[in-house]
Amino acid sequence: AAAHLFSHAPSRGRTRRRNVGIARHDGRRSDARRNDSNRPAGDSFARLLAAAESAKKSAAADNTNSTSGGGGASSTSPPASPFSLAVCWLLAALALLGYTDLVPLVLFDSREAPSRLADRRRRPHRPDALPGAVLRPLPHHLPGVPSSQWEVRHPALIPIAAASFVLGSLPTPCGLPWYHLLTLPILFTLLVACAILPDASSSDDEAEKEDDGAELPEPDGGWKGSKPFERLPTHSKPVNYNLTLTPNLNDFTFKGEQVITVQVIEPTKTLVLNSAEIEIQSAKFNDASAEISFNTEEETVKFSFPSELPVGEGKLSMSFTGILNDRMKGFYRSKYTDSDGNEIRCAVTQFEPTDARRSLPCWDEPELKATFDVTLVVDKNLTAVSNMLEVSRTEVADGLVAVKFDRTPIMSTYLLAYVVGKFDYVEGRDADFIKMRVFTPIGKKDQGLFALEVAKKTLPFYRKFFNVAYPLPKLDLIAIPDFAAGAMENWGLVTYRETALLVDADNSSAATKEWVALVVGHELAHQWFGNLVTMKWWTDLWLNEGFASWIEYLCVDHCYPEFDIWTRFVQSDLSRALELDALENSHPIQVEGASVIRMLHEWLGQDAFREGLTRYLKQNKFANASTENLWEALADASGQPVQFVMEGWTKQMGYPVISVASKPAEGDDSKLELTITQEKFQLGGANKSDLLWRVPIQVLTATGHKHQLMLAEKSDSFTVPKAAWVKLNPGCIGVYRVDYSASMLQDLIAALKHGQLSQRDRFNLENDLFALAAAGRVPIVQVLQLADAYKAEQFYTVWSDLLSNLGSVQVLADHLGLLDKWRAFLRQLCEPAYQRLGWDARPADGHDATLLRSVLIGCLGRAGHESVLAEAKAKFAKHCSGECPITPDLRACVYSTCVLANGGVEEFEAVLKLLEKTDMQEEKVGALKSAFFAVSAVPEPRAARQRVLELAVSDKVRLQDTVFVIGGACHSLEARRAAWQFVKSRWSWFVEKFAGQFLLSRLVQLLCNDFCTAEDADDVDAFFKANPAPSAERNIKQALENTRLNVAILARDGDSVKEFLAQFAA
Ligand SMILES: [Zn+2]
Repeated sequence: AAAHLFSHAPSRGRTRRRNVGIARHDGRRSDARRNDSNRPAGDSFARLLAAAESAKKSAAADNTNSTSGGGGASSTSPPASPFSLAVCWLLAALALLGYTDLVPLVLFDSREAPSRLADRRRRPHRPDALPGAVLRPLPHHLPGVPSSQWEVRHPALIPIAAASFVLGSLPTPCGLPWYHLLTLPILFTLLVACAILPDASSSDDEAEKEDDGAELPEPDGGWKGSKPFERLPTHSKPVNYNLTLTPNLNDFTFKGEQVITVQVIEPTKTLVLNSAEIEIQSAKFNDASAEISFNTEEETVKFSFPSELPVGEGKLSMSFTGILNDRMKGFYRSKYTDSDGNEIRCAVTQFEPTDARRSLPCWDEPELKATFDVTLVVDKNLTAVSNMLEVSRTEVADGLVAVKFDRTPIMSTYLLAYVVGKFDYVEGRDADFIKMRVFTPIGKKDQGLFALEVAKKTLPFYRKFFNVAYPLPKLDLIAIPDFAAGAMENWGLVTYRETALLVDADNSSAATKEWVALVVGHELAHQWFGNLVTMKWWTDLWLNEGFASWIEYLCVDHCYPEFDIWTRFVQSDLSRALELDALENSHPIQVEGASVIRMLHEWLGQDAFREGLTRYLKQNKFANASTENLWEALADASGQPVQFVMEGWTKQMGYPVISVASKPAEGDDSKLELTITQEKFQLGGANKSDLLWRVPIQVLTATGHKHQLMLAEKSDSFTVPKAAWVKLNPGCIGVYRVDYSASMLQDLIAALKHGQLSQRDRFNLENDLFALAAAGRVPIVQVLQLADAYKAEQFYTVWSDLLSNLGSVQVLADHLGLLDKWRAFLRQLCEPAYQRLGWDARPADGHDATLLRSVLIGCLGRAGHESVLAEAKAKFAKHCSGECPITPDLRACVYSTCVLANGGVEEFEAVLKLLEKTDMQEEKVGALKSAFFAVSAVPEPRAARQRVLELAVSDKVRLQDTVFVIGGACHSLEARRAAWQFVKSRWSWFVEKFAGQFLLSRLVQLLCNDFCTAEDADDVDAFFKANPAPSAERNIKQALENTRLNVAILARDGDSVKEFLAQFAA
């Protein structure tokens, strides 16, 4: 899988939604109306919100229709109890009084769902036991309603609802609807009712536990902050699953039948499989019926038989039902709106790491591989795809067809996938005649062409690189409207976020193409490394991901050399890993996997590395392997002590900083002696660690010669030929920082100014120096002075990293009240490069210049550069009038700059309007984020900012993007605090939506990392002590650590920064 979200945070709002005409009359609706009329006329934001509101209502009405219209085939009608009837009548009475909201909606927590399914017999008095009631999970797009809640509807209540509709619309003397006067007593009654309903809601603890099931286990083997992973018993294993699923897109349930060929290894009376949120109606092993019991906590189901099952193969058959959930894991629902405004519903899968069990009872562990025969029974007008090619299609009932897919190779459950919905596709074959298709939403198939081209180049590249044929007959890539991660490498059916797959030839930016190429490259590498050979257990996930995250660059570099993608790697992967891993609250290898593999590849050399890799894949194909197996294969191929060197990198936290000093070698004038010392690099506090690494070090001298050293001790010395300058880590391949002696650094800065350092080396120099300053090893002012040497810099990566590093100093300047001077400093720094580049694309511009232009203009816009602001304003006006559309690469930064130029709110609203019209997800995300940036930089933005935040949690923004939109609003200290207050006030909403997902930790990271007072740190600390979020625990610690580091930096360097900035006129 690829998270890949940090570089391009996509976001999407919903534009068109079918309006079904009558919206249900209820309180929220009239609230929206009232608010609207209170706002000044022409307040487009209010109208926008009101429109959003009515769209939600339409969606709600849709759901009502589909349910009462005979959907809900699998809904249940358990016998009534006196208690449930009482509740029913209470609700009816409330309805007659006008509280229509309560009539069709009774909510309770779905965290109960698994136990509800298992234990219904013991709890007949639950609300779902109303006679004739229909129980269904709420669609997560209902605003303000936690996604994991359920809804009970009852046919008898419909006439009452109709009556109350009339009642509710009659005004009272004071102008409020009747039920508003009754709200308090009603709420009180409800609370009492809830209190006496046993188990009506589960505790938060329970929720956290269940949600944690979705978090990836840590490479250190422990599940921090959650339960240990219980392994399945080993007396049996699966050989083949013959699975038939019938998803119902009307009521979001599915029916399943499966016959599993099981190998019984030791005689046993029980079989234990993983299963979650699934109800099993019956099961038998050969002819013996099973007694079924669930363990909700462990997500297992136990089949017990009266007598021992004999050793050997047998058939375990069962029928079951489950839910197409709205949590983007397991077998879940998704939908999009096509260009005619029709809502298209889909059922899709995301099983990694442990959610296959939400779609079928199975041995859900990576090592328990089996073959799969999948059949999907679907509406004949829908597309159905799975890992393998379709082999037959038979009509089974009116309008339904059974689509049968070929048997898969032996594989892990987490790689199984199926998608049902309406899609267009483009297809082709690669050089090896592998059939490839890229599926897109209806009407967007042209946007799949770029990904198809990438895939056609990529697959043969990997086949040659690994020297192992692609193991399947076809490869499908499919864009999924709602997707939590970036993409998922399901074997033969790779699923993607739309923004990670679709490229619009006319409107997509260069950065998007780059990203799509990388994500496709990443997932296709997994088809071998991960799918063909799978890690034994999740502890080795780092290798799986690290490898794919490295080789995606190798592949894109091969297919698109013009992207200069390794430079991007250095910027996005390596430098991010080094940043995170310098914190105390880090952990071995996870973040730096790709960089360590890159270093290893460089050290062993491409030929030996490839040779070792091929051995590893051939030896372990269709099976599982450990990290050590890979090291052995690489050692065999290269003759190097791979395991010995790699141990320090994979098992120890952090990485080293290498201090280096030079002097003339004794007795030899033509040589320099380098003294090299390593210690653990740490941002804060005294370094007490005595950890050592075996570091392959490359040394480049002014003459262009490279030397390879291996530092295995604390300290060592080496001689190199004398030269004007000496640089360690050329090309920025090593996973370490370099701390040069003062004279060596001066030589390097001179070389930099004379244009003698390569792009990656220029990057490396400033990037290391910023880190050393953050750690207190050099004064911050020294890096601010170094920035001056970069005025002649021409390249995007260097600029973008330099400016983002300066951004962390900006946080401090902001805190010191020196933002104006800081902006003046930025203006004079970027001015020369901006003058060289200008606004308009020139024929000679490459990919890099295009990217750089948007970075510089964005930076200058935010820094208040007058002519940039004026130009943005003019361009925006022409864009809006349709006279001259802005080039896609500049759109986001023009939007934000223009919002700034004009003081904010009106232009912000104009941007929102443009986004309403556009159908492109990519543009929405980028533009929304940058417009948020801009609003938060406007002097009096409070009201606007609040709207932005509200918008982020409305259904205008997809859940998958909410977090990034909020992150975009954290541009200044004040804005950050406001966003943090907002998130705190809505915390339960965020927990409901994101608990256990990485998005929650991402939210913490975006919000809390850049505070710089002890009070802020205490506030964050206290908040999470009162509201624990186990899945984000590490990010919380990192945020606190970062904040305290900022406090320390301010204490250390605050005065000198002030002095330095004094020279710039605000
Ligand atoms: Zn991956």
